[in-house]
Amino acid sequence: MCQVEEDYRDPPLLPDLPSVFNKCVKCKDASAAVVVRAGDPYCRACFKEYFIHKFRAMLGKNRVIFPGEKVLLAVSGGPSSSSMLRQVQEGLSQNAHKKLRFSPGVVYIDEGGAVGQSVQARLRTASELQAVFRATGFPFHMVPLEQVLDLPSSVVVAAVSPEPAASTYKAAVDRFMQSADTEHHIQTVLLPLRQHLLVHTARSEGYSKLMLGDSCSRLAVKLLAAISLGRGAQLAQDTGFSDSRYGDIVSVKPMRDYSAKEIAFYNHMFRVPSVTTPSLTSKMSDKASIQRLTESFISKLQADFPSTVSTIYRTSEKLQTACRPSSAADRMDTCLLCVCVLDTSVGNATAFQSTLISKYLSEPKAQVSPGAAAAARSGHNPVTPPCVEQSRSCGGEHCGTSACTAPAQLTLTTDLKNLLCYSCQLTVRDMSSVDRLPQYILSEAQRRTRRSQLREEISDFLLDDDEDDSRG
Ligand SMILES: [Zn+2]
Ligand SMILES: [Zn+2]
Repeated sequence: MCQVEEDYRDPPLLPDLPSVFNKCVKCKDASAAVVVRAGDPYCRACFKEYFIHKFRAMLGKNRVIFPGEKVLLAVSGGPSSSSMLRQVQEGLSQNAHKKLRFSPGVVYIDEGGAVGQSVQARLRTASELQAVFRATGFPFHMVPLEQVLDLPSSVVVAAVSPEPAASTYKAAVDRFMQSADTEHHIQTVLLPLRQHLLVHTARSEGYSKLMLGDSCSRLAVKLLAAISLGRGAQLAQDTGFSDSRYGDIVSVKPMRDYSAKEIAFYNHMFRVPSVTTPSLTSKMSDKASIQRLTESFISKLQADFPSTVSTIYRTSEKLQTACRPSSAADRMDTCLLCVCVLDTSVGNATAFQSTLISKYLSEPKAQVSPGAAAAARSGHNPVTPPCVEQSRSCGGEHCGTSACTAPAQLTLTTDLKNLLCYSCQLTVRDMSSVDRLPQYILSEAQRRTRRSQLREEISDFLLDDDEDDSRG
């Protein structure tokens, strides 16, 4: 999971300081082997104990994993998730009162296809990781990212029973991967899809928890990137310890208290194997995406001002969300892509509405039709761009904007946008065609759109419209 590229390959010992002068702060006896924070030198044994204790304490404090529960560990082969795997092994081998009591399995998502890795390289990585996983004795699942194209729509509605998807598999894979090559932003779309695949694997293999290896450094990147991407409303869910947006499968992040540096020290000292694989984000250049730019910013910050990174991360701990619990009645109101509760159904006099109006006014090509501006003000159908309003009234002939050349497709884009949170709308807006999204997303979009149309048609006959239709 952890993809922050920090360079800690040098031996993490203290060659320049004579070790006799540096006693371990914990046992005050052995000589220091590692400095975790400035002024806190630890000996090898104490560092190990501190590291293992932190993991157990994080799980103990949050009390979300129950004894005997099946927990799926998402391991990317990177330092942080590999270290997480080791912590679970350590936890299961501890003596009675300290022992972890859940039953773990491992999942690896092979992103090689999406980043253009050769078949040979993918097979090599897979066999290296298989050897690591086999050594743990845990059951493991190797899943190619391409499998998102075969996911059932139920993934994005937190339903329990998966349905088989239609198979135009090969063509879909080619089309999707081709577009992944040419467009950086599609990689932003791939991240939520990757999450869908993890959730689906957990569901179909009978796990009820998903354990992610996000370190504190990783979460600092996520936090800042999320703010920049307009994901303010989802911050708490995106960066918190546990995340229950999928309902039955709860994701937890037990590595969130460790910095990338600590993890690198631990992995080096206790020979935790990690397999470096090119991932969706690591292949991009520094300025390819907001996530990548934030990542390089945080890495530099970590190098020069290490304590600021943990400050960013501590901020994420304090975040709370006014999110309602996800229940069957609320399913219509979650984002189709990130499955967070929609932040777009808000009142008229909100910052969100002002943002929309400013966006329309500043768009260079489109002339703002009075209808669209009014619609934006009234909050009705808030994501309909002006050209769509025009194409509906003028038949798509006189609008003059480039978007109007394909009215049928545009309608789908508009309908799709209505089903997305603000941030995911921005992501999808950059895509040249929504057809590139996997079929399970598109068919779920059609289903939801039909349902809301139907609901609108019969709304006059509904007695209790406060409860259901207030979000129109
Ligand atoms: Zn010690
Ligand atoms: Zn979203």
